[in-house]
Amino acid sequence: MRVIDREEVARKLTYEVCIPLVRQAMIAFSRGETRQLLRSIIPLADGRMFGIMPGALGERAVFGAKLISVFPDNFSKGLQSHQGVVVLFDGETGVPVCVAHAGEITAIRTAAASAVATDALARPAASRLAVLGYGEQAATHIRAIAQVRRLSRVSVWGRDPGRAAAFAERMGAETGVATVAAKDVETCVAEAEIVCTVTNAREPILLGRWILPGAHLNLVGSSYAGPTEVDHDVVTVSRFIADSREGVLAQGAEFLKAREAGLVGDDHVVGEIGQVLAGDIPGRQSPDQITVYKSLGHVVQDLAAVKALYDAK
Ligand code: NDP
Repeated sequence: MRVIDREEVARKLTYEVCIPLVRQAMIAFSRGETRQLLRSIIPLADGRMFGIMPGALGERAVFGAKLISVFPDNFSKGLQSHQGVVVLFDGETGVPVCVAHAGEITAIRTAAASAVATDALARPAASRLAVLGYGEQAATHIRAIAQVRRLSRVSVWGRDPGRAAAFAERMGAETGVATVAAKDVETCVAEAEIVCTVTNAREPILLGRWILPGAHLNLVGSSYAGPTEVDHDVVTVSRFIADSREGVLAQGAEFLKAREAGLVGDDHVVGEIGQVLAGDIPGRQSPDQITVYKSLGHVVQDLAAVKALYDAK
């Protein structure tokens, strides 16, 4: 059995490779060509979790599962918050052929999925990016979004101003894009045409009234029916696109809480990003429309990435 470690994933799963893979995987997902179960989560102590995500890329194609632990407190220890493996099985023989480092794959494929959504939904000339959070996903999102839009400015916000400033300096040096730390969330998003929320916040940190008309938002940090990084207004004012409609109706916390408050119905989730990419539903409908991509993360993204690494030998 082949083992693909963290270093190999980081070296070979570039955004140039991963963005088109995720794009195709999400189109296949929305066409019903892939199979997957809703993610199961076993809660552990202190807000930690163990997630089990099985899926198949097609009837006779590869299948497998991601087994992933989420330990939010790992951030303060300098460890990845997501740890685990993606196991790939051969679709013809049923033989498990590959085990790959799930933490690194998750970091890259999640940002690649947001880049795919940004490319489809943000205004073509959007150049000012705001990122809430300065953890692993914050870094991968800046790298990935830079692949689909010509960025002129990045603003970042996090709870610790010193860490936010250090992160901004590091990312600015890496990307060559002017990157600044904002003093609060409102300032961070004030001029942003693209916003990514990538924190562990449990209660809203981003309010809809702060968002610029025409902005595109990737809501990423909450991946189960619990924490919400944004208030109801973000949901109600936006054209709301899901990675998976079924997933968001079951586990998309921001949407579920707005629905619970009686502000929106299920039809507010207008469709999936795969449908937009396939041209089956419209994406952005006007320059001033606010668009949201709600990311929960899906195993087809992980399997497509590992299959490509496995096939590349
Ligand atoms: P990290 O642990 O690397 O970073 C977490 C970030 O959240 C840090 O900036 C941390 O900074 C900040 N944070 C923690 N608590 C709060 C709070 N209450 N308010 C504001 N900021 C807070 O995690 P990742 O970057 O790997 O993941 C970020 C989020 O994205 C997680 O919630 C994760 O579960 C989710 N995720 C979603 C995926 C998807 O497919 N949708 C896939 C992978 C991750 P500080 O503590 O200093 O404030």
